[in-house]
Amino acid sequence: MSLIENRFNKNLIVTSADYFINWGRANSLWPVSFGLACCAIEMMATGMARYDIARFGAEAFRPSPRQADLMIVAGTITHKMASRVKLIYEQMSEPKYVMAMGSCACSGGPFVKHSYAVLKGADLVIPVDVYIPGCPPRPEALLEGLMKLQKLIRQKSIAKK
Ligand code: SF4
Repeated sequence: MSLIENRFNKNLIVTSADYFINWGRANSLWPVSFGLACCAIEMMATGMARYDIARFGAEAFRPSPRQADLMIVAGTITHKMASRVKLIYEQMSEPKYVMAMGSCACSGGPFVKHSYAVLKGADLVIPVDVYIPGCPPRPEALLEGLMKLQKLIRQKSIAKK
């Protein structure tokens, strides 16, 4: 007989603090509500009934960055917008996560060579956790990226930053 057998009621679950907190964080991501260009249309489609981002607990798009912990950089970041994107990121609650959606947010996209106005990737101004390539990526790709982010969150520890 094991040491803890018959010592607890049947509805008791024993787990680690890391597992419990990460479970909550991974399954209730609140994205900040903004879009930068064409990729944002696919992000909006992902929120609608056909793709239903609510299945992953990430449907609560917040109009205020202070209420959000996920930034989906959906679209082209111009040099003029870069400081605003950084400001929105800085206003978000900790712990916070970033997904670069589409070629523009990943690396400048179709503008990478011949535009003087476009930033060559979101990671030049803010830290990015997940990159989703495509021009634009389909909603399935955004959901795949979200699942990858959830996996990353589950591996984090509250003891280490
Ligand atoms: S990656 Fe393509 S679809 Fe997305 S914002 Fe850039 S140009 Fe538009």
